[in-house]
Amino acid sequence: MKWSQDQLEIRALARDFAQGELRSASAGWDAAKDLDAGIFRKLADLGFLGMLIPEQYGGLDFDLSTYLLVLEELSWGDASVGLSVAIHNGPVAGLITKHGSDGQKERWLPLLASGEVLGAFALSEPGAGSDAGSLTTVAEASGTGWKLTGTKRWVTNGGRAGLVIVFAQLDGEGMGAFLVDPTVDGYGVGAREATMGLRASETVSITLDGVEVGEGGLLGVVGRGFPYALEALDLGRAGIAAQAVGIGRSAMEHAARYALEREQFGRPIANFGAIQVKLAEMARRIAGSRLLAHDAGAAIMAASNDEGHPRTGVDGVTARAAIAKLSASEAASWSADEAIQIFGGYGYMRHYPVEQLLRDAKGTEIYEGTNEIMRHVIAREVLRDAASS
Ligand SMILES: Cc1cc2nc3c(=O)[nH]c(=O)nc-3n(C[C@H](O)[C@H](O)[C@H](O)COP(=O)(O)OP(=O)(O)OC[C@H]3O[C@@H](n4cnc5c(N)ncnc54)[C@H](O)[C@@H]3O)c2cc1C
Repeated sequence: MKWSQDQLEIRALARDFAQGELRSASAGWDAAKDLDAGIFRKLADLGFLGMLIPEQYGGLDFDLSTYLLVLEELSWGDASVGLSVAIHNGPVAGLITKHGSDGQKERWLPLLASGEVLGAFALSEPGAGSDAGSLTTVAEASGTGWKLTGTKRWVTNGGRAGLVIVFAQLDGEGMGAFLVDPTVDGYGVGAREATMGLRASETVSITLDGVEVGEGGLLGVVGRGFPYALEALDLGRAGIAAQAVGIGRSAMEHAARYALEREQFGRPIANFGAIQVKLAEMARRIAGSRLLAHDAGAAIMAASNDEGHPRTGVDGVTARAAIAKLSASEAASWSADEAIQIFGGYGYMRHYPVEQLLRDAKGTEIYEGTNEIMRHVIAREVLRDAASS
């Protein structure tokens, strides 16, 4: 792919930031199971919390290609930061920018862009993960607005968030997407989950006990919540693909450096063909996944610019985003696993960075749709094409 001079400069900025502020702190955050809160201020100062927000609302209005380049770099530095930033910019700010009323945009986008408010996306529930259409959280009509009741699970950024997009069933009218201010009565945040990887990322449950949302809290059109969720997930999956590419690249670079330094049988292990095959295979999988992430980004941009780009079919936005996330998440997990192998016994030790990368990479195979669901989505679109040809 050919990047413009502007994109290369922005990528260099993100890379310097990741190198200086994230990489050296990442293991400490993983052990502390939290990010340094100050990191969000630094991300906001660089504009990285408003990457997809129009300039009139204080954002940088990046094209998706530039956005994905930045996400890869941040995730290379620390995958938990990559996840927080991806959710805040993609499913949250992206949906408001696309479907918000003027009032909602004026209220929320400047706060999101400046980092005063961190965004969260609450779709999953204890009994509704892959089958996101089966939510039990309900939104009952109340005065001119709605009253939300239910429980949400695994909400990234959940405890820190100043805005949560909550999806709930409307009585007989499909699903609604609601902009919820967590300071309202009836809103509760559960204990932070103890996670395998991405330990510095905040994953919490949320309870909604008759949370009142006024008329202005419904995003877009009544009953369109589910299509909005799916649309947000297309953008989200392209972002997670970029996150996974960053994790995989980090594993490959650690492994290559170690292979040059570590000597066995009187020579660096990098001289052994078995090690070289692993490094070559990492590079192939990561480079291919990067192309697929940017391919998905290009399709999403073409669809949202009304260029008539389809959402369905194997060339459509949804399949291309699923292909990118599937490929990149598997590339990341595979690369991190093989990086541990290259480090040998040291790789299995917490002191070295590669075991964290495997724990982090695994998450990318699960959130924003598991890889089984990615395969299901891709096959559905292949079969749709076949049935209509
Ligand atoms: C770290 C982390 C952060 C997250 N952040 C968020 C967030 O911010 N917001 C949010 O809303 N959610 C979030 N999630 C939730 C995540 O999106 C769900 O965990 C995921 O969609 C899977 O749902 P589930 O866990 O209920 O698994 P289930 O749906 O119960 O699936 C269990 C297994 O069955 C398989 N399966 C299910 N249906 C099918 C099928 N039709 N065909 C084949 N196999 C199938 C799955 O692939 C999986 O292997 C997060 C999860 C994690 C781990």
